[in-house]
Amino acid sequence: MKTKKMKDKILFTPGPLTTSQTVKQAMLRDLGSRDSEFIAIVQEIRQKLVELGGAKPDEYTAVLMQGSGTFGLEAVVSSTVPPDGKLLIIINGAYGKRLAKIASVLKIDTITLEYPENTIPDLSEIEDTLKSDNKITSVSVVHCETTTGIINPIKEIGALVAKSDARYFVDAMSSFGAVPVNLHEFNIDYLVSSANKCIEGVPGFSFILCKLSSLRETAGYARSVSFNLLEQYQGLEKNGQFRFTPPTHTLAAFRQALEEIQTEGGVNGRAGRYRKNYETLIEGMRMMGFKEYLRPENQGYIITSFLYPDDPSFSFEEFYESLNQKDYVIYPGKVSDANCFRIGNIGRISEADIKALLVAINQTITEMGVKLK
Ligand SMILES: *Cc1c(COP(=O)(O)O)cnc(C)c1O
Repeated sequence: MKTKKMKDKILFTPGPLTTSQTVKQAMLRDLGSRDSEFIAIVQEIRQKLVELGGAKPDEYTAVLMQGSGTFGLEAVVSSTVPPDGKLLIIINGAYGKRLAKIASVLKIDTITLEYPENTIPDLSEIEDTLKSDNKITSVSVVHCETTTGIINPIKEIGALVAKSDARYFVDAMSSFGAVPVNLHEFNIDYLVSSANKCIEGVPGFSFILCKLSSLRETAGYARSVSFNLLEQYQGLEKNGQFRFTPPTHTLAAFRQALEEIQTEGGVNGRAGRYRKNYETLIEGMRMMGFKEYLRPENQGYIITSFLYPDDPSFSFEEFYESLNQKDYVIYPGKVSDANCFRIGNIGRISEADIKALLVAINQTITEMGVKLK
């Protein structure tokens, strides 16, 4: 059977992302889930993920979990907060709110500290809350809040959590692999990310980097069978296998993606390309007259929110559709207090792709008759 060669659109989104040809090609295999070759792939992935977290294998382990990123978050919330525990959730965007929703459905006792979406969490308030409420057993925060692209101070928050008895849990979904972290130095007990973000794999699983001493004390905590993090870990350790059907093709692609991040110079190399994408993007957008939602000092290089132009001839739907027809896919905003759209800088995209996108944006606003200045 001959299939027509199609050119994919370029994805300037927070995931799934544009991936390399070689990552896609790595999926053209049917591997048995109990085959020694597949088991070796899983082993290699787990080992390399610990290395990317700047950690040592006797202190941290990587547990892979079927499903999208949210499934990994749900695994951590549902199986690492003690039955009578209390979770502090620091929120400044939609993903922090999602953590609160997970905890609420699981009927976990929760306290939240909520901040506007363009504002960094208040460290002294976090410190006071940890000091005054000794029932708190777990603290969670999102690293790059993909809602806006703001980068939260996970190292500083980790230092505050270290002064308490609580465990520290970071949603680093959209940053891991492209923004340096050191699990040990940041005092992180659990860090969650997924296959289809900055490592540039395809969707299908999430991974949780766990401090072994913390994970081992969670026996009996799990509130679900599928999401049981400790049992997933024990299964992987026992025979290298998943407890239930693994996404074999996704894992083969991910092994290739890990090789490609290494070739690019690891986390710093990847950060360099994304940062260049970001700088090219904001320079071009500013030149056209677009304004960013965040102050530059809070803005990361992962994804950028832009305010809708203040001109009645601008319609986001029309803007989006026109770019889509030119084969460029951007992302609608989710910000609650301002009308924004977002452009992602991550995935297998280069400065040349960003420049081509800028040309298309310029063309589109001219066609729409939008005046920006
Ligand atoms: C992408 C993302 C998630 C998870 O999303 P899924 O759709 O479940 O993969 C969670 N948190 C953040 C910060 C994200 O960027």
